[in-house]
Amino acid sequence: MTKAFSHLATRLNDLALQGLYRSRRVVTSPQGIELAIDGEKVVNFCSNDYLGLANHPDVVQAFKAAVDRYGVGSGSAHLICGHSAAHHALEDELAAFTGRDRVLLFSTGYMANIGVISALLGRGDAVFEDRLNHASLLDGGLLSGARFKRYAHADVADLVAKLARSSGNKLVVTDGVFSMDGDFAPLDTLAVIAKNHQAWLMVDDAHGLGVIGKNGGGIIEHYGLGQDDVQVLMGTLGKGLGTFGAFVAGSEILIETLIQQARTYVYTTALPPAIAEATRASLKLVIAENWRRDKLQKLAERFRQGAEQLGLTVMTSSSPIQPILIGDSQRAVDLSNSLLKAGFLVSAIRPPTVHQGSARLRVTFSALHELEHVDQLLDVLDQISAGRK
Ligand SMILES: *Cc1c(COP(=O)(O)O)cnc(C)c1O
Repeated sequence: MTKAFSHLATRLNDLALQGLYRSRRVVTSPQGIELAIDGEKVVNFCSNDYLGLANHPDVVQAFKAAVDRYGVGSGSAHLICGHSAAHHALEDELAAFTGRDRVLLFSTGYMANIGVISALLGRGDAVFEDRLNHASLLDGGLLSGARFKRYAHADVADLVAKLARSSGNKLVVTDGVFSMDGDFAPLDTLAVIAKNHQAWLMVDDAHGLGVIGKNGGGIIEHYGLGQDDVQVLMGTLGKGLGTFGAFVAGSEILIETLIQQARTYVYTTALPPAIAEATRASLKLVIAENWRRDKLQKLAERFRQGAEQLGLTVMTSSSPIQPILIGDSQRAVDLSNSLLKAGFLVSAIRPPTVHQGSARLRVTFSALHELEHVDQLLDVLDQISAGRK
């Protein structure tokens, strides 16, 4: 007889053999373009802190002042006694920023996605998801109990065919900026299609908010889409905004529905109020400082051109996410390890995060990088991929 759970050790072993084993590195510095990892200094090219706000003095100061006022813990869920003036003010400011009627804060983006889709859909309904959607959107769709349809990446014709064959309430769900590829969803077309099929459109703009659009309004600003086009907008606070948490923006009816029915909202502790105050400070910087977005554009362009010249396979992306396609998982890991030895932190992204055979180095930029950092990275990539290092 086999011992209970004896397959766990076997499975871990298999992961290691396939180059799919994941492990953590211990960071001992604040976030920034230079990180201290296991006692070594490295240049950071894998963070989602695109605007460089995670350790900005204004944000840090707002956090400290709020801790003095509110303490650390929020005490309970929002519906009990955990909804502070700090949370409330941030919701109002995010609603104004996104041009939506109302906003509801969630403790994480993962929870927001699961809560929203499950609150809006049930048996007899249908959810349509881009194949490359973030795991939390896929999980939300599966958990909702609605019929679950995945369409080919950004493939509008495939989506139309699937919508035409479905009944019940329909929700089309997509990343705004795809997290592992960096490309934009064809949102203008998706909005029209959704309307034609009486579906709602939900966009997860985790990687666009603060970063894309002239004023940092994200993918909806890029395409100029209002609340009638994108009925459900989800944004995260732990990426471009540099703090932690997430929100959903939309109509009064949507937000009230979520307050009553989103289980990941109702049954969880509210974010610490100091996180909300820190995010208010970071939102002010996002709005005021266009140079951060301009700089990101320049850095990404310089990198793309340089990488193409080196014969590396860059992907179609006009965001600060600039992956280099490698293919084989073990090779991606080896390259990432060689880069680390040379002082550059670039993460290898492997299945199941991306499709089999599409392992990649996911290079991301921060507004705090300089063009010299990009040139140094290109230089070392050239040496490593040519086997000179
Ligand atoms: C990071 C991410 C999330 C999850 O947000 P958290 O706040 O980190 O839980 C959801 N969707 C996308 C597209 C993401 O990249």
